[in-house]
Amino acid sequence: MPHVYGNKPETILYKSPNGKKSINHVLLGTWLEVIDSNDEWLEVKTAGRGPGGWVRRSDVVETPALKIFFVDVGQGDGAIIESPNGRMLIDGGPSKNFHAFMRHLYGPTIKREGTVHFDAVVVSHPDMDHFNGLTNVLKDQNFTFGTIYHNGILRYYKNTPEGAEFDLGNITVDDQGQSYLTDTVSTLKQVEDRINTGSLMSQFKHFWVAVLQAKQQGRLRTARRLSSRDDYVPGFEPRSGQSRLVAKVLGPVPTKTSGAFRYITFADPHSYPSKSPSSSHTRNGHSVVLRLEFGAHSFLFGGDLNIPAQQHLISHYGSNHPFQVDVAKACHHGSSDFDINYIKKVNPHVNVFSSGDNKSFDHPMADALGAIGKYTKGDFPLLFSTEIARANSSSGTHYGLINARSNGTVLVMAQMKEQHNRADIWDSYTVPWKGYFVDH
Ligand SMILES: [Zn+2]
Repeated sequence: MPHVYGNKPETILYKSPNGKKSINHVLLGTWLEVIDSNDEWLEVKTAGRGPGGWVRRSDVVETPALKIFFVDVGQGDGAIIESPNGRMLIDGGPSKNFHAFMRHLYGPTIKREGTVHFDAVVVSHPDMDHFNGLTNVLKDQNFTFGTIYHNGILRYYKNTPEGAEFDLGNITVDDQGQSYLTDTVSTLKQVEDRINTGSLMSQFKHFWVAVLQAKQQGRLRTARRLSSRDDYVPGFEPRSGQSRLVAKVLGPVPTKTSGAFRYITFADPHSYPSKSPSSSHTRNGHSVVLRLEFGAHSFLFGGDLNIPAQQHLISHYGSNHPFQVDVAKACHHGSSDFDINYIKKVNPHVNVFSSGDNKSFDHPMADALGAIGKYTKGDFPLLFSTEIARANSSSGTHYGLINARSNGTVLVMAQMKEQHNRADIWDSYTVPWKGYFVDH
């Protein structure tokens, strides 16, 4: 059957082809199956999310849009990206939430097509709240994968030969006393060799074992390290005349001082003036940083960047920097460990905070909320939070999904209302947002 996509910020489905009684609102880019039509109207079915109905022909198009789902994974990051040129996952949170949401989202597609393919899976850095939730996703027989991209940093146990000096591996120190992490990997074969040493941190090892098993089962092509030396995520390069998602790799930025691949180590700013390398600052600071572009719109995924890492990127890119975007995921869940000059450079219309409750760190922090809000564009800057969007009510827990949709010219951000008032289920904002009382 033919299908179309909603092309209004909210496309309205009506009970009859007369525009009188609305029965469902779907966001820009939502897939709709056409089952009947007349001159002005199409009768459509949804992919199992809410009732179908009649939609104006002028409200839909035949070309797919960009969809970004910032999934509420609790304390962590996890995003699903769908584009005309492929699907991408960026991180998967700490637990089963991400996989559970993927089963919910792709349930109808799996029923229709058997499997769902993800061209790129990006693990921003080797911390539990980013990689661990992907282990279940990799084990799911209904999902297939192209390439797993990672920053090349491993996690060892401290009481092992590899982790004795630093739990990320060996460090070398140059004549000036600057230390570098030299022990990184790229290929699956290199990872497999490390698994066999028995020194890898157990959850990190389980993740890579799931990658290797998916490959053995023919559901995954390969894995490799990604860095600024790559320019673009393969498959997401620009091509003239095509409406496609472009994924630029801004970080990690390995050192330029020699041909060998090595990362500068970062210290904890709280330990200044000590320059002793911090394991968490080094692995967070070398997060894979992606700038996505689709038509007129841009999106920044900055992993868990921290103060020294943001300063490292600022000095690498200089004045002609690529950080300014329309929508930014706030770095490190809204930690206080940010450089204000970096925040000023990103200067988006929209920020998305991805964080959870019940942790000893209260992300997002008050100063991050204030500073990031202050340097977000316009009189009505948009700050979304997976944690705020998640709420408990008498009818249960509503998960805090944040949606970004673009057709290349119109950008809409939305979250689902916590209580549904008939068909009107979305809080949506066209970007740039001019305030509620302006006719959008
Ligand atoms: Zn994190």
